[in-house]
Amino acid sequence: MHVMVLGAGVTGVTTAWFLQQAGFEVSLVDRQPGAGRETSFANGGQISISHPEPWANPAAPWLALRWLGREDAPLKVRPSLDPAQWRWALSFLHECLPWRTRRNTEAIAALALFSGERLRALRETTGIDYEQRAAGILHLFHTAREFAHAPMRASSLQKLGIPAEVRSREECLALEPALAGRPDAIAGGLYAPDDESGNAQRFTEALAAQLEARGALLHWNTEIRRLAVTRNRIEGAYVRDAEGRKGMLSADAVVVCLGSYSGRLLRPLGQRVPIYPVKGYSITAALAAPDRAPVVSLTDESRRIVCSRLGDRLRVAGTAELAGFDTTIRPERIEPLLEWARTHFPGAIDETQVTPWAGLRPATPGNLPLIGRGRLDNLWLNTGHGTLGWTLACGSAAALTALIEGQRPPVVFPFLD
Ligand SMILES: Cc1cc2nc3c(=O)[nH]c(=O)nc-3n(C[C@H](O)[C@H](O)[C@H](O)COP(=O)(O)OP(=O)(O)OC[C@H]3O[C@@H](n4cnc5c(N)ncnc54)[C@H](O)[C@@H]3O)c2cc1C
Repeated sequence: MHVMVLGAGVTGVTTAWFLQQAGFEVSLVDRQPGAGRETSFANGGQISISHPEPWANPAAPWLALRWLGREDAPLKVRPSLDPAQWRWALSFLHECLPWRTRRNTEAIAALALFSGERLRALRETTGIDYEQRAAGILHLFHTAREFAHAPMRASSLQKLGIPAEVRSREECLALEPALAGRPDAIAGGLYAPDDESGNAQRFTEALAAQLEARGALLHWNTEIRRLAVTRNRIEGAYVRDAEGRKGMLSADAVVVCLGSYSGRLLRPLGQRVPIYPVKGYSITAALAAPDRAPVVSLTDESRRIVCSRLGDRLRVAGTAELAGFDTTIRPERIEPLLEWARTHFPGAIDETQVTPWAGLRPATPGNLPLIGRGRLDNLWLNTGHGTLGWTLACGSAAALTALIEGQRPPVVFPFLD
């Protein structure tokens, strides 16, 4: 059976990989000249199993109000007349109800744990190198008031099966000596030893190369314009290549992994998906003084900024903006990331060699990805991974492969059926 995977971000490429490993014939289609060139390009790099709580939680509406009007706020809403933005914002508010947050957190935690296992197994099978570090993630709290919540947070994570340990300021400094550049900024931390970090784009590209070496057909520079449907089945995808040549690619089944753009292709088929683009930014900086830069991946819980060491570079990422499909890089959103690196790790980065980037998180209101059957007989979805696409990629792909094979994935999650 031939399965065509639409979209070659980290979700699409891992989906194609797990399908191929299960014996399916696979092809992969993307408008970019290679894998992982859109949202999977320069994300925070964290395999953050210890962050299953969605943005939609009971505190979120109050925080959003507090940040209203601030250009450098971690969350910025640029209101538009687009009804999709309003619909999504209303659903987001609904997901902030305590019982919805609990349900979403549990489902994400289960999928994230499964995903971590699958990622480690994939690494063993393929031997690919993607600047990975299995050194855990240290969550940092700046004020004593925020740190006071750490024991409760650790115990909630432990109940979900996720190892997490409260660490004093001194223990944080011992774990990551580079934090000594600004010790006063830290009240304490929460350490998740099983978390990891790595370069999602490199991973995606390396895995795509292995797919091709094992016989998958990869169609680059190929824009998917619409899907052809006959009698409740997808016949194929109408595509256009870089030279403007049009054609149709067909398969026995189709998986949509188009990130924020999934809705555009699905809507004409009568399938609405609650995915809205939530823009985020990152900087990737060369290191001026490697020993002053952290090696443990960090999450600044107070500023909502994450940071990962990728080889001889430092990636700092964060911020969320509801601004439609705009990927313009705004200097006022980049500056807080630079300032964060500057003040936490003085002299570590070379400010003459900084690459800014913006990408669109394919966010569902509760941050639960859509994995499973679509509305047509041979249509499948694996999309809407929001803030955790890199973390959840391998688990989502393995679970979808099991569903396509007619099996039940070994994880408790509200799959689509
Ligand atoms: C600033 C930032 C930091 C983040 N940090 C982390 C992190 O630390 N950890 C984590 O787990 N997650 C993180 N994320 C989230 C993660 O990056 C995303 O969830 C993930 O990359 C989504 O992958 P995807 O494959 O679903 O989408 P994408 O990577 O966007 O892939 C979709 C693909 O579809 C293709 N496509 C779309 N439309 C068409 C079309 N019509 N024709 C052909 N091709 C098309 C695109 O070219 C693209 O390659 C972060 C995101 C951002 C923005």
